[in-house]
Amino acid sequence: MWVSVIVRPQDEASTFATTSKASPMSESSCRCGPARSFHISRRKSLAALFGAGFAGAFAGAADSASAGASLTPPKPEDERFMRLAIAEAAKGDFPFGAVIVRDGDAFASGRNLGITHDDPTAHSEMMAIRQVIAAGRTDRLRGATLYASGEPCPMCMGAIIWCGIGRVVFAASIVELATKIGQIMVTSEQVAAATPFTTIGITGGVLAAESLALFKG
Ligand SMILES: [Zn+2]
Repeated sequence: MWVSVIVRPQDEASTFATTSKASPMSESSCRCGPARSFHISRRKSLAALFGAGFAGAFAGAADSASAGASLTPPKPEDERFMRLAIAEAAKGDFPFGAVIVRDGDAFASGRNLGITHDDPTAHSEMMAIRQVIAAGRTDRLRGATLYASGEPCPMCMGAIIWCGIGRVVFAASIVELATKIGQIMVTSEQVAAATPFTTIGITGGVLAAESLALFKG
């Protein structure tokens, strides 16, 4: 059985207080220390990515594979579908859009609705995926291609993998997006590479400039 528990900060504090009565913890060993230990500067994040030999998934790349990720070059139809994703992004609360394609049919689309729905998880990829699931057609996700105007974050990439989507094509990379808006500095390739039970195709850099141009200022 899988159980998830959501704990608010005040709950965590009270839980810690209860725990500490049973097994006293010295201040130096307490893991509830300053939040700064979780703060990584953007510069350090980028340095970590590049320093780790991050090659990225980029347009024009030859096929290569790393565990669960297969970096593939763009296909002729990629720009056409990416333009649909970018058109969705232009209507989003934040400029992120996605479409899901199967056998040449763009059968689902989504845009960021984080503000509209007061839902931090309402990313464009999640909106498109949920649309298909709500229609009872989860089977159509398996082996489909998802086009995203921005490289999927770890949450979305996890959902993409769990749904069995076969290929991801993105425009702007996490590193490029991080120059415009806060990002979790984990690439889609890194999420896929940490997934031993399946392989997913990844193509990046398709119309990246057009996607980035949606961010004003
Ligand atoms: Zn996301």
